[in-house]
Amino acid sequence: MTLETSIEFLKGIGPERAKFIKNVLGFTTVEDFLTFYPLRYIDKSKIHKIGDLSEEPEVEIQFKGKITDIQEVGYGKSQKRMTAKFRDETGTLELVWFRYSKWMKDQLPLNQEIFIFGKINHFNGNFSMPHPEIEIDEKKALSGTLLPIYPGSEKLAKRGLNNKFFQTVLTEITKNLHSLIQENLPENLRTQLNLIGRMHAFYHIHFPKDLNHFEHANRRLKFEEAYFFQLGYGLKKQHHKASAVGNPFPKIGSQFKNFYDHVLPFELTNAQKKVLKEIRTDMKKPVQMNRLLQGDVGSGKTMVALLSMLIALDNGFQSCIMAPTEILAQQHFAGISELLAETDVKVKLLTGSTKTSERKIIHEALLNGELSILVGTHAVLEDIVQFKQLGLAIIDEQHRFGVAQRARLWAKNKIPPHILVMTATPIPRTLAMSFYSDLDVSVIDEMPVGRKPIITAHRREKDRLTVFRFAKDEIEKGRQVYFVYPLIEESETLDYKNLLENYDHILDFFEGKNVTMLHGRMKPAEKEAAMNYFASGKCEIMVATTVIEVGVNVPNASVMIIESAERFGLSQLHQLRGRVGRGGEQSYCILMTSDKLSKESRTRIKTMTETNDGFKISEVDMQLRGPGDILGTQQSGVVDFKKLDLLSDGKIIKAAKTAVEILLKNDPNLQNPENLDLRNYYTKQYKSKNKWGRIS
Ligand code: ADP
Ligand code: MG
Repeated sequence: MTLETSIEFLKGIGPERAKFIKNVLGFTTVEDFLTFYPLRYIDKSKIHKIGDLSEEPEVEIQFKGKITDIQEVGYGKSQKRMTAKFRDETGTLELVWFRYSKWMKDQLPLNQEIFIFGKINHFNGNFSMPHPEIEIDEKKALSGTLLPIYPGSEKLAKRGLNNKFFQTVLTEITKNLHSLIQENLPENLRTQLNLIGRMHAFYHIHFPKDLNHFEHANRRLKFEEAYFFQLGYGLKKQHHKASAVGNPFPKIGSQFKNFYDHVLPFELTNAQKKVLKEIRTDMKKPVQMNRLLQGDVGSGKTMVALLSMLIALDNGFQSCIMAPTEILAQQHFAGISELLAETDVKVKLLTGSTKTSERKIIHEALLNGELSILVGTHAVLEDIVQFKQLGLAIIDEQHRFGVAQRARLWAKNKIPPHILVMTATPIPRTLAMSFYSDLDVSVIDEMPVGRKPIITAHRREKDRLTVFRFAKDEIEKGRQVYFVYPLIEESETLDYKNLLENYDHILDFFEGKNVTMLHGRMKPAEKEAAMNYFASGKCEIMVATTVIEVGVNVPNASVMIIESAERFGLSQLHQLRGRVGRGGEQSYCILMTSDKLSKESRTRIKTMTETNDGFKISEVDMQLRGPGDILGTQQSGVVDFKKLDLLSDGKIIKAAKTAVEILLKNDPNLQNPENLDLRNYYTKQYKSKNKWGRIS
C-alpha cells in the first residue's frame, strides 16, 4: 500500500463502491482517506451529571445511575414507544425507545447501577435520551478511547458509507502507517517545538488514545500545514527580494524635514512613527518594497502615505496614490493639496472625469518630472499615464483593487516602484499573516490621542421619533448628520425610489434644515458638489447610499444613522461608522433595524454596539463568514486548509512563520542534509501543484 494506491483495492471497497466514493467525496487514493479527518470524537471516559445539563449538548454523553419506571405509551404500531426514568444523584432524565421488542424490555436492568450513553434532546424544559446505549460493566463503559466520528451525510450512510465504514477503512490504512508516512520536519525543530512525529500524528488523529494524544496529533498536523504554507510564501518572497531590484531612497531631505518640522499639524502617534520607520528602512534598500499597511478606520494612514511620498521626492522620485472611488480620490487630493499649500511640491488629481485638456497637462508634467505627486483613481493605471521616474505607488483601500492592478503599477517604471498598499478596515492578524505573506505587514495599532470613542446604539422602528429628535438636537448644537440607506432591491431604479421617499420624509421632519443627497446614480460632478456642500457645513444632513462608505472625512459630522443596518456586513458597518468620530465632539452611530433579526444579524449588531476596535470586528466577521468570503471569492481557495483554522490558530501560525524565517535565513536553498526531508516533501506536495502560485 502507498499513499497513491487506489481506494478500490482497499478491503471492502472494490470498483463499484470506489466509483461511488469518487463521485460523492472526490476520493481516489489512500491519501484521501488518511487526510479525511474526524469531525469530532466521542469521549466515553467522562461521566456527566444530569443536574449539570443546561442546553442540548452537541455530542453523545454518558451518565451513571439507575433505571426506574418502565412504561409503554401510545397506541398502534407507529405511535407506540417505551419510556423509562433514569436517575442519578442530581436529577432525572427520560429514556425513550421508539422501536423496541419485548425481549429488550425484559432485558432492561432495573434499579441497578448502570451507565447510559447517547445524545440528549431538550424539549419543553425536559431532557431525554432516545435509544441509549446501556452498559453494566464499569470498565467497558469508561474505556478511555475516543471514537472518531467522520463528517458524513445521509446519502453516504444509505450506501453503506457510515461512520463504522470509515472507522474500518482507516483502521486498515493506519496499520500501514510505517510504510505510508515519512517525516517531513527536521528533528531539531520538532524537539524545539514539542511536535510529535508525523506517523504518530496520523495515527492519533484517527484513533487517539486519549485527549492528550489527540491534541498533540492535531497540533502537529496544523503546524505542518501552516509551516509548508509559510514556506511556499517565504520562498517566493525570497525569490522576489533577490530578483526585484528597486530604487534605493537613501536620504531624508529638505521636503520631508520642512514638512515634518513646520507643516505637520499634529504629533504623529507612536504607531505611525514605528510604521514610517519600517517603510523608510524598506525604501533605503535597492530592493522593491511590497508592504501592506494595516490600520483601523481613522488611525491616520493617509499621513503615513504622504510622508512616505515626501521621502520619495527627496530622493528625486515621483509618487502616486490611488483610491477606489472618485470621491475618495478627491478628498485625498483636497487634503494633500491643503497640507502642501505652503510648500513647492506639485500635486495633481487624475480621475475618470478629468477633462481632456487637464489630462494633457498632467501627462506632460508627469513625463518631464515637474509633477511630484499624482492622486487618482483607476485612471492612473492607464498605459498613457507615464512618469519620468515613478518611485513609490500607494494603493488606498486595497481590497477594491485586484492583484492584476497591483501588477500594472510595477510596469510604470523601468525599475519597479516601491509599493505600499493600505487596508480600509483591518483584517484579522492571522489572516494577514497567512494570506499576505508575500507582503511585509505594518500595523498602526493606536489611534490619535483625544479621540472620543463613538457611542453606538441599536434602535428599532418604534424608536424612530426619538432617534430623529436626537438627531435634531445634535444639529441644533451645530453638528451634522448622515443617514445611510442600503441598496435594498436588486433593481437600481427601486433603490433610487426608496432613497427618494426617505429623502422626502427627512425633508419633512427636519424642516428648515439643508439636506443633500449622495448616491451611485449621480454624475461625478454632482457627487462632488453634494460632498462639498456637506463638507462646507452649510448643509446639516446628508442622505446617502454606501457611496460614502470609504474614506470620506467631514470632522463636524457627529451622528451616523444607518437604516436597515441588518442588511450590512460587519466591515461595511464599521467603515460607515468611521465616517463620524473624526472631530473633537462626542459622536454617535445609530443602527436602525427591523424587529425580526436573524441570529447572524443579531451578532453583527451586538458586536458593533460592543466594540470600536476594527481588529476585533474583523475577527467576528471572519467567524461569521469564513476567511474566503473576507478575502473575496477569487482568493478563497488559497485558504482552503484541512486542519488549520486561521481564526483560532494564531499561535501555531506565528510559530510556523518564525520557524520558516529561521529556516530560510540559515539555509535559503534548503541544501542542508537535515532539511532534505523537508525539501523533498515540499517539492512533491507544493511546488509541483503550484498551489500558491496564484498570488503575486
Ligand atoms: P485612515 O487611516 O482611516 O485613512 P485618515 O488618514 O483619514 O485615517 O486620518 C483620520 C483623521 O485623523 C484625519 O483627519 C487626520 O488628519 C487625523 N490624524 C492622523 N494622524 C493624526 C495624529 N497623529 N494626531 C491627530 N490626528 C491625526
Ligand atoms: Mg483612509
